Amino acid sequence: MQTNIYLLGAPGAGKGTQAQLLVERLQIPQLSTGDMLRAARKEGSELGQRVAAIMDSGQLVPDEVVIELVRLRLARPDHQKGVILDGFPRTVKQAETLDQMFQAGGRTPLTVIAIDVPYDEIRRRLQGRRWCSKCNRTFHVTDNPPPAEHAQDCGVDANSLEIRTDDRPEAVEKRLQAYTQQTAPLIDYYKSRGVFHTVQGMGPIPEIFAAVSACITQ
Ligand code: AMP
Repeated sequence: MQTNIYLLGAPGAGKGTQAQLLVERLQIPQLSTGDMLRAARKEGSELGQRVAAIMDSGQLVPDEVVIELVRLRLARPDHQKGVILDGFPRTVKQAETLDQMFQAGGRTPLTVIAIDVPYDEIRRRLQGRRWCSKCNRTFHVTDNPPPAEHAQDCGVDANSLEIRTDDRPEAVEKRLQAYTQQTAPLIDYYKSRGVFHTVQGMGPIPEIFAAVSACITQ
């Protein structure tokens, strides 16, 4: 039985954190288009160079770019047991194309879980967010500081963690705007398909994870 989960929410809602916990529990891979695009930038590939300025400004990259990344990733053998989608789809066009890919591939329909967090809390979280480009883990200066072993494992101490370029306040406002205008309409899109759950994204991470897990019937 295949388990396909889509975590929907504004940037900083905790999708990545919950996706990592789901990966450990369900042993199926996370598919994060943001991570894939950041990896392309780190490699300095042609794609990475093409999307860098768009990402830094807080806007969405073109649908065709992310759709192609997802198409290739979903075809991999290790993605046949299921997948945890984090940050894709982000537009109605992407959602419609994903539906077609799922139908063509005979995949089990998505369980959609929206993580709801007020925008003021999002701003606070993104301001304190820190990122380790070595292990790709995300932390927060007060809410979720890196554990002591992180500095040993990665050779990066808490003060040397990076601030993502798109976590700067100007970019954050653009990202919230993109979310409101282009991604939030997916709430109605999926509600009308009857596979939609909402989880409150405030409070301790394990409690949110318990609520997320309760949405998944296996
Ligand atoms: P994220 O790490 O998910 O917040 O994504 C970081 C940035 O990558 C976004 O602000 C967009 O510029 C780009 N991006 C990631 N996923 C998508 C997507 N599904 N559609 C368009 N742009 C995306």
